Amino acid sequence: MQAKAVRAGQNQPVIVWFRDDLRLGDNPALDAAIRSGQPVVCAYVLDEESPEIRKLGGAARWWLSRSLAALDEALRSRGARLVLRRGAALDVVSGLAAEIGASTVFHNRRYDRSGIAIDNALAAKLEAAGISVETFQASLLFEPGNIQSKAGGPMRVFTPFWRAARSCPEPRPPLDVPKRINGMATVASEHLSEWALEPTAPDWATGLRQAWQPGEEGAHARLAEFVDARLSGYAMSRDRPDREQTSRLSPHLRFGEVSPFQLWHATRHALEAPRDKRVSSIDLEKFLSEIGWREFSYHLLHQCPDLATQNFQSRFDEFPWRTDETALRAWQAGKTGYPIVDAGMRQLWQTGWMHNRVRMIVGSFLIKHLLIDWRRGEEWFWDTLVDADPANNAASWQWVAGSGADAAPYFRIFNPILQGEKFDPEGDYVRRYVPELAGLSSDLIHKPWQAPPIMLATAGIELGMNYPCPIVDHAAARRRALDAFARMTRSG
Ligand code: FAD
Repeated sequence: MQAKAVRAGQNQPVIVWFRDDLRLGDNPALDAAIRSGQPVVCAYVLDEESPEIRKLGGAARWWLSRSLAALDEALRSRGARLVLRRGAALDVVSGLAAEIGASTVFHNRRYDRSGIAIDNALAAKLEAAGISVETFQASLLFEPGNIQSKAGGPMRVFTPFWRAARSCPEPRPPLDVPKRINGMATVASEHLSEWALEPTAPDWATGLRQAWQPGEEGAHARLAEFVDARLSGYAMSRDRPDREQTSRLSPHLRFGEVSPFQLWHATRHALEAPRDKRVSSIDLEKFLSEIGWREFSYHLLHQCPDLATQNFQSRFDEFPWRTDETALRAWQAGKTGYPIVDAGMRQLWQTGWMHNRVRMIVGSFLIKHLLIDWRRGEEWFWDTLVDADPANNAASWQWVAGSGADAAPYFRIFNPILQGEKFDPEGDYVRRYVPELAGLSSDLIHKPWQAPPIMLATAGIELGMNYPCPIVDHAAARRRALDAFARMTRSG
């Protein structure tokens, strides 16, 4: 391939096709294109037409719009710009290559089934036309399939997977941000505004705008702030939604505005920081293991490309799910009558993100208290999360359901009252997102129906009027879920 690039004239352009890697730093495809010495065309394709492609949800489209604008600005400050095209990626990228007479297309690898199919078909088409394709590992520390069991098979349990990954050589250091890019100026581009990625009527993105700064600069600001102020204490407090202890890097990782290699090395360096800034190896290892869960989810997606739609364990195909649109809508709107569940669902709606512990609680509630198919939850998250991710979302929903590879057992049913009391002990998280309960004391805020009428009246709460009564009784719902599980086990 190198020989081809050398044979290609130095004025013949090359293409960098950006996808889920919307960054300049630690971007091996961009780095290789610049090193070719040829003019570089940076392109992004909005593909909603290829077969089996899963369209982004609303919150992710909002993020994408902002992230593309930030990438274009960063490219322009270095002598290039982002060329935007829409359509089936196979046709658009091969068409662009023919249009500008490109010698090579560079891109980083992706791991979802439709993405892989498009990339393979493109490589075949371009190479048949004498255009070379170079691909790189950029968004995962360990490529799916590279970590295997001792017997050489796929790994299905996180702990041995991560142990094996940790015994591999240290992930490579990240690449620098390029100082200059020899961009090709004359290529036509669509306008981002034509894509209408951001909501207008109604504009539901106010909370998203307040909460996030999409783009590489925002990602690195968040990473620096996390390493400086929140990594220390992460292991102890990461499960507390009332504290801002986790990194909130998930949407930045999802869109590749920061790479896992950058994360790995930035956090590892915190071990060697001056004493007052130094983090403990316990905090560091805990954080790295969460990055490991992301790697593991992709590893599972590789084993089961239909992870978002097919039970990993086929015995769950017999599960007697209920159809209950009223309950589903109450869950989506944060009106179940269980404060921790409602706080989580409203945090999701307002900010496009939800704390991990609360994702587990609301997921368990949908699946086990309401007996609604986990796929309905996965779809809602796909539409409303700014970090909606093909591997993490599907693998996590299957983990909660118990249908996954490395699953929480089905019979472990979270009690939303105890979970609230344990992880939001003062009720601050609930008060922030369910303000109608703000006047209740900490000992009652997770179970308002147990508050004496006088206390409810003093707090301005009328159950069933301005805050719902629980839509299911916890104990009865628990029994029903266990019965359903037993029925599935008998029929399986
Ligand atoms: P941190 O605690 O700071 O962790 C750092 C990074 O590690 C995260 O940004 C994320 O990339 C990764 N990570 C952390 N926890 C997990 C996990 N359990 N599984 C996989 N990766 C993890 N994460 C997504 O990125 N996209 C999703 O669509 C998504 N859907 C989920 C659905 C459900 C039902 C559940 C239970 C979890 C889901 N997660 C998803 C995983 C997790 O909740 C988020 O990654 C995490 O809350 C993001 O916050 P953070 O960046 O502050 O995490």
